[in-house]
Amino acid sequence: MDNEKPREACGVVGVFGHPEAAKLVYLALYALQHRGQESAGIVSSDGRTFHVHRGQGLVNDVFNQRILDGLHGNIAIGHVRYSTTGSNMLANCQPLVANYRGGQLAIAHNGNITNAAELHRELEGRGAIFQSSTDSEVLLHMIAQSMSDDFEEALVTSLARIKGAYSLIFLKEDKIFALKDPRGIRPLCMGTLDGATIVASESCALDILDAQYLREFKPGEMVILDEAGARVEHPFPPLEEKFCVFEYIYFSRPDSMIGNKSIESIRNRLGRRLAIEHPADADIVISVPDSSNAAAIGYAEESGLPYKIGLIRNHYVGRTFIEPEERIRHFGVKVKLNPVRSVLNDKRVIVVDDSMVRGTTAAKIVTMLRKAGAREVHFRLSAPPWKNPCYYGIDTPNEGELIANSMTVDEIGKKMGADSIGFLSVEGLLASVPKNVGYCTACFTGDYSAGKPSNFKKTQHDVGREVLV
Ligand code: AMP
Repeated sequence: MDNEKPREACGVVGVFGHPEAAKLVYLALYALQHRGQESAGIVSSDGRTFHVHRGQGLVNDVFNQRILDGLHGNIAIGHVRYSTTGSNMLANCQPLVANYRGGQLAIAHNGNITNAAELHRELEGRGAIFQSSTDSEVLLHMIAQSMSDDFEEALVTSLARIKGAYSLIFLKEDKIFALKDPRGIRPLCMGTLDGATIVASESCALDILDAQYLREFKPGEMVILDEAGARVEHPFPPLEEKFCVFEYIYFSRPDSMIGNKSIESIRNRLGRRLAIEHPADADIVISVPDSSNAAAIGYAEESGLPYKIGLIRNHYVGRTFIEPEERIRHFGVKVKLNPVRSVLNDKRVIVVDDSMVRGTTAAKIVTMLRKAGAREVHFRLSAPPWKNPCYYGIDTPNEGELIANSMTVDEIGKKMGADSIGFLSVEGLLASVPKNVGYCTACFTGDYSAGKPSNFKKTQHDVGREVLV
């Protein structure tokens, strides 16, 4: 079932200056697991030599004590991946590592390089041999082919040619370079622990280490960590900020902070606003756990209706499972969600979900709630209709598969079988999120200000490649 779903962006982390750097990265990756479950990897450095371990699966599947003990050094970077470009194969696991004339280099990337296909062709034309089908590898080749022997200069000139979204962490033998693209599309924050500096996609990765949160990176900001300390650079001309608003709606963990605002509190506001825009005569409010819990509670608080636990999520279901025969209908959603009949029976129910993609989950939930005795089902979404694919690091289905791309809200409501349906408006969304930030809303509005790729999706690089099983 999950293969039908859009996939999350990746998670990145870096630790500089701690004797147990790799172990801290490992723990931080646990906290970032929600951002990618396909592969995990850590590269550590003792200042001269890299120690690398990467594999497919969850952090818990990929690492054990013996492996962690071998990841020496007081510098390390890590990555959890859910592919946005490049297929799911071992060579695509990050951090990617390269040896070139300037020494050793590793890269952990969250985002999507929209002009990767052109750059790939250009680099291959000059003889580059690609090991992976990820967009991130183009950066390694650009740096390796750079005219400059100075790493920082090579990095900045290479980045100047890159378009799209990137929160990046580079490991050079004895340094870390961490940076956000000039529009600041994907998150990246900084913290400190026992004199070590930590950079991570989300602040929940700092919490697990008991590290102190310092701040979110600014768009276009690069922080260089080395023996001399932390140096901040702004190598790119400033561009209008375009932080991914979907991080607030769905991706980030509710206990994370982005720019001193907790995701939980923002989701609560989305739910409150949704209640104002789309009220309903009902008895209870329930969420589709877990991602919409905070919004559903906000909706209930604003509407004065009781919030109830009407659906239970099974947390132990892996990404894929074997479907039984036809006769067990709606199995896909059943294995993950089960209705609480005693809560739902004879009730008029408002069910809040955070977003609708293909509409498959919502349709199944409506049927499930009715079967469990709900008298009325009012479906509410704490995001606007998702009409356009994301080119900036979220693996979304094709335009045609996005239900809101081809149907009106009323048509969607009918298809779901709901008594009523309501999506948060774009204005309502922007009124509920922090004001001092500029947002990318392309998935809702089609405003692709960070550029649209000329040739999105990787087919030509993936065809004919070996797949490790
Ligand atoms: P769908 O059944 O295709 O409409 O998917 C809707 C469900 O997908 C909602 O319950 C969302 O919480 C969830 N969702 C939204 N965005 C993502 C994503 N990027 N990855 C996985 N699930 C998502």
